[in-house]
Amino acid sequence: MADAPDPTLYDKVVNLCKVRGFVFPSAEIYGGFRSTYDYGPLGVLALRNVKQAWWRSMVQLRDDVVGLDAAILSPPDVWGASGHLTNFTDPMVDCRSCKERWRADQIGDTCPNCGSTDLTEPRAFHLMFKTHAGPIEDEGHVAYLRPETAQGMFTDFASVQRATRKRPPFGIAQIGKAFRNEITTHNFIFRTREFEVMELEYFVPPAEADQWFEHWLDARFQWHLEYGIKPDHLRTRFHDPDELSHYSARTADIEFLFPWGWGELEGVANRTDFDLKAHAAASGEALDYFDPSTNERYVPYVIEPALGATRSLMAFLLSAYDEDEVGGERRTVLRLDWRLAPYQVAVLPLSKKPELEATSREVLALVQPHFMCDYDTTQSIGRRYRRQDEVGTPFGITVDHDTMRDGTVTLRDRDTMTQVRVPEDRLVDELRARIG
Ligand code: ATP
Repeated sequence: MADAPDPTLYDKVVNLCKVRGFVFPSAEIYGGFRSTYDYGPLGVLALRNVKQAWWRSMVQLRDDVVGLDAAILSPPDVWGASGHLTNFTDPMVDCRSCKERWRADQIGDTCPNCGSTDLTEPRAFHLMFKTHAGPIEDEGHVAYLRPETAQGMFTDFASVQRATRKRPPFGIAQIGKAFRNEITTHNFIFRTREFEVMELEYFVPPAEADQWFEHWLDARFQWHLEYGIKPDHLRTRFHDPDELSHYSARTADIEFLFPWGWGELEGVANRTDFDLKAHAAASGEALDYFDPSTNERYVPYVIEPALGATRSLMAFLLSAYDEDEVGGERRTVLRLDWRLAPYQVAVLPLSKKPELEATSREVLALVQPHFMCDYDTTQSIGRRYRRQDEVGTPFGITVDHDTMRDGTVTLRDRDTMTQVRVPEDRLVDELRARIG
């Protein structure tokens, strides 16, 4: 059994994110803007690390996946063919009592705001952001902000395949911004109108689709565990047939136990040959594969694991948040995997004495090319350790007067708080060994 979600955890993490510079409400000096968020000095590092962790496992460590960075602005043709112009809607209801609007499938029969059950019939609300490309704002210049990155992988399928000479099974991976005019946004960066998504479109011979679906569902589940999600906070939920998106033959969500309950973290779908066939029919371009070994031409099926980078960061922060007691004082510690922590190392001169400064900067220069480092000289050393623990820095290096005498520094571990002396010239090796 998973622990019951801690109702105070959400507020603690949101507060820490704001105070320590992970995530700020966007345009806050104007009162904020409709649940948009800015990733601050620490957030930008942690989010990059989440994306890097995904890219490493999906692209770097595989010889059957290549990357892509497609345009965000796209013409209506793309979304007409993909079915999004007609199907990318959520059911919306109005509360007749307090006039709030809700997504019908998320609230049941009762308005969460005022408790009224006097709701309108659900109607389809279209989720894509529409704009105009160029100076003329007429129907001929309509463009859309992509609500997913996937379509770029489908429209570029033939170009990528020709350029790389990959044969199915092979995949195209992409990380980028996506935009959805969500009816309601809530729960911090869980659901926002602008977010970053990490998607793989994995093209397979149709007969192998089920096998690859299982492969990717399993691989993606393991990835979350590998980077620190607790096993009892992760589960798989298969979609019922009436829940499936218009393009999907089979979908499973990898769900995370958020403080408000289980919620989708990542979706894995078998998109069949729906998208490639739709774009081939609409564009007149062939989007198929000729297999020289069998002399057969076929349209590959597509298995798609899709994970919000920003939602993933939130899950990692929630999982990592911990409090313990040190010397009678409460300590907040983010037990982030070192690969996700904003800083891997903090270099901390024991005091502000000028003679320590030069040596500390030398130590910083030794470590900085290898790890993302913070350098902090403010407040007492104890306070500085706490501040680093709170943002998840796995290692602290303290430079003191002994350093100048014998060339050793103190290396402190965030989780065990043990401290050992290490010669400066062995620091990088020692850090690497500890990280494994
Ligand atoms: P929902 O039904 O909850 O609106 P969805 O099933 O339409 O979501 P997908 O299209 O499967 O979502 O999106 C893939 C992934 O992108 C999700 O698993 C989630 O991690 C992320 N994601 C989707 N919408 C948002 C959003 N509005 N804000 C942040 N992340 C999102």
